[in-house]
Amino acid sequence: MNKNLIKNYNASEIEKIVLDLGHKKFRATQLMNELYSQRKTDFAEMKTLPGDLRNALAEKYEAGSFAETTKTVSKDGTVKILFAMHDGNAVETVMIPEISNDPERKDRYSLCVSSQVGCSLDCAFCATGKLGFKRNLEASEIIDQLIYAEKLIDIKMTNIVYMGMGEPFLNIDNVFKSIRTFSNPSVGLMPAKRITVSTSGIVPGIEALADNFKRIKLAISLHATTDIVREKIVPAARKWDLKAIGEAIEYYYHNTKIPLTFEYILFDGLNDSEDDAKRLARISRRVMSKVNLIPYHSIDFTNPEGIAAELKPASSRTIMRFADSLRAKKVTTIIRSSSGEDIAAACGQLAFSKQNTYNAK
Ligand code: SF4
Repeated sequence: MNKNLIKNYNASEIEKIVLDLGHKKFRATQLMNELYSQRKTDFAEMKTLPGDLRNALAEKYEAGSFAETTKTVSKDGTVKILFAMHDGNAVETVMIPEISNDPERKDRYSLCVSSQVGCSLDCAFCATGKLGFKRNLEASEIIDQLIYAEKLIDIKMTNIVYMGMGEPFLNIDNVFKSIRTFSNPSVGLMPAKRITVSTSGIVPGIEALADNFKRIKLAISLHATTDIVREKIVPAARKWDLKAIGEAIEYYYHNTKIPLTFEYILFDGLNDSEDDAKRLARISRRVMSKVNLIPYHSIDFTNPEGIAAELKPASSRTIMRFADSLRAKKVTTIIRSSSGEDIAAACGQLAFSKQNTYNAK
């Protein structure tokens, strides 16, 4: 029998589960405490609960989402974790450390969580897209990426970004459920203002985020400043063009007052001209925002075809020139480093066992 994952349920649903099993309400508080404060992933270990309740829960539910975990550590400190799920599927999660030399600034540990197994969108630069879509992750499988990662790495994460495998707004119900649990102050996993959802530009999702949450940050994977170029590398652009995205981000900003982030991978000769910098500055000035310039990381291990095979990284000089040009136009610009490239954990490289499959050919 397939068991339900208990973290798919919110606090009031868990209360009902406990009451239906014939136990008192305070047992639900204890169960929540075992799941989220004590981070127990096995009912048998929840010693604050009576044995008959532990057994009854274990008959119908799983306390942990994953059957197996595999950790890989990069030389720069980035950690990639492969989570094998009970149905045989797998996803990857990446922890990116930013250690500060400034005693005034705290170290950051960002966890890049996945929302789907594979992805249906097939962006040209992304290894996950080459896997195709397998299934949406359940809310519990998103939440447990944080809980298991903190236990495995023994670090308290400071930020969550929905930027791993999958397009979060194509699994919106489970992503929103997971955000509600993460940011629930009584659960204490992550303050809302430290959670960012990154999208390839799914307009209804951007609007829904603005309607449902007032403190969750938004990042747009833009990567091009004209619809013609964007449609080549981000297929979702065929449905939602730059005009529609521009209107959606204004809607988000006016509803939340939270500055946005634009993610922009620089490809040699494709989106790195001075005209691109001008257009990007114009787009980013529609609302308060910053631009993250991201170096392109090879996904040659996926044997790319078509436009994907033609993509080349812009040189470091071009990235610097592009950044200077944006800054001259008063755009806050950050050049991101290539964290975890040696373990295929950098932006766009997540493809779990597929990489080994490709490498073995
Ligand atoms: S970049 Fe994101 S949306 Fe595009 S294929 Fe990869 S996972 Fe999907």
